[in-house]
Amino acid sequence: MKKFKFLTFIIVIVGVIYIIPVTSIGDINKNNQEKIEIVQASVNINNKNNVDEKNIKENSLSKKDNIKFEFKQIEKYEKPLVYKIKYPVFNNKNIEEKINNQIYNLAKDFKNEFSQYEPIIDDEKLLFILNTEIYNLKDNLLFVKFNVERNYNTYPNPVKFYETFIIDLKSENFVNTSDILNKNYIDLFYIYVKEYFFNNYGINITKQSENYNDIKPTQDVYKKIFLDDKYVYVFFYDYKKQQETFTKIPLEKLLPYVKEEYLQTTTITETTRETTTQATTFKETTTETTTQTITTTATTTETTTQTITTTDTTTEATTNQLSSKRKIDKNKPMIALTFDDGPNGAVTNKILDVLEKNNSVATFFIVSRRIEKDAEVLKRMDKLGNQIGNHTANHKDLTKISTEQVKSEVDIVNKKLKDAIGKEASMVRVPYGATNDNVKQAVNSPIVMWNVDTKDWKSRNTQAIVKEVLGKVKDGDIILMHDLYGTTAEACEIIIPKLVEQGYQLVTVEELLYYKGIEVKNGVKYFNGNKK
Ligand code: ZN
Repeated sequence: MKKFKFLTFIIVIVGVIYIIPVTSIGDINKNNQEKIEIVQASVNINNKNNVDEKNIKENSLSKKDNIKFEFKQIEKYEKPLVYKIKYPVFNNKNIEEKINNQIYNLAKDFKNEFSQYEPIIDDEKLLFILNTEIYNLKDNLLFVKFNVERNYNTYPNPVKFYETFIIDLKSENFVNTSDILNKNYIDLFYIYVKEYFFNNYGINITKQSENYNDIKPTQDVYKKIFLDDKYVYVFFYDYKKQQETFTKIPLEKLLPYVKEEYLQTTTITETTRETTTQATTFKETTTETTTQTITTTATTTETTTQTITTTDTTTEATTNQLSSKRKIDKNKPMIALTFDDGPNGAVTNKILDVLEKNNSVATFFIVSRRIEKDAEVLKRMDKLGNQIGNHTANHKDLTKISTEQVKSEVDIVNKKLKDAIGKEASMVRVPYGATNDNVKQAVNSPIVMWNVDTKDWKSRNTQAIVKEVLGKVKDGDIILMHDLYGTTAEACEIIIPKLVEQGYQLVTVEELLYYKGIEVKNGVKYFNGNKK
């Protein structure tokens, strides 16, 4: 395949070129205008072959079948954002609009989130990749799945997640998983999810299991599903991998749970088969271009090797310095908020603003990519009494690289920190929380984990983040967030004053462990401030 040139504005559309909803992402403030454009675009598509479309529509109304769709793909470059979106075009305008509205909202969220983001290199790309998959069950239900990926060529940590929808083709409305399945389906899903944890990690899930709430058998947990002609895919949060995943259940196991009214017709139309094949072809194309973009990240990897200095003295000094500024009462509850993957200019500053205003501090685990660019932010962070931790240079899974590389990953950040703020980090948070004995030894530093995960990278939803924190926190907790997202900063504007109001002292991780009387050692993992 020929090399893909992103710098040129490219629209790749297979078939006929349409002005489609996603092209109107440009004017983020003209919300209504955009909605109108989406509707118009849908109308345009349907009017393309006026007579044929009409015939199809009559058919579909009278026989309740022949829902036809095909996939189209758009690529759009709006510096530094790149959108690659595969979306469906239907013979039914209402259904098409419903699905494409969802796509549009996801693309808009992405754009909003990076509205304050400043590229650090000239050709920095922030990718939003959305692949749509559709399956219809007996012309009664339409299952829609978006595979969403957000990827930066300056940062080797793509975020992947899924969105799913079900449309009842009779009412042409969205329905929930619980609407189409008979009771007890949750038990079926739970069995398979338990099996997933057993097969992958040897864990027997019980009510006492870590993060049981993420997988417990409730409608709320098991609401995302997708079908194809062989399997039902059930989506859930894998707390071990710290990301959303799915397990496959053979379709014939699910069918007994599907309500009778949705199983009436028996055949899947030829049209669907054709478009399904088409979908696979599209998928391959997109995968190829994605891979190409990711490889550019590898070139930014640095290979300096440095010795790592011990950190014990730094820990002591910082703690004393901080506690003289703020009075910490070791008998009152305290929490350590932590932010990974920054610094990130305006977003980090917004979090610092609200911390400062509330006489509070946090811990920021930084990567090396923006240390020089955001040196002023780091200086401010430090001056306000926040702890700056090391999240490694390139955010690699340390369990998959050599000892020398692990040392280098830690050391690059420390060296740059020394240049920027005059001191090194006293603690490390390993990317993805991934450690083994070799990593523990090589980082030569205390390893900070967390016990409350806000999943802010996944939801990117202010209220959801607020709920994760305020609904769960207790004395001694270490909370995981990321200062990459505007939504996280907005959530902090709610969370921080609220926690202070509830009587929590917001302290650094060093302070938390110190005041809880926990001895801090190199190579040891700390999940919270409670003694075991
Ligand atoms: Zn991270």
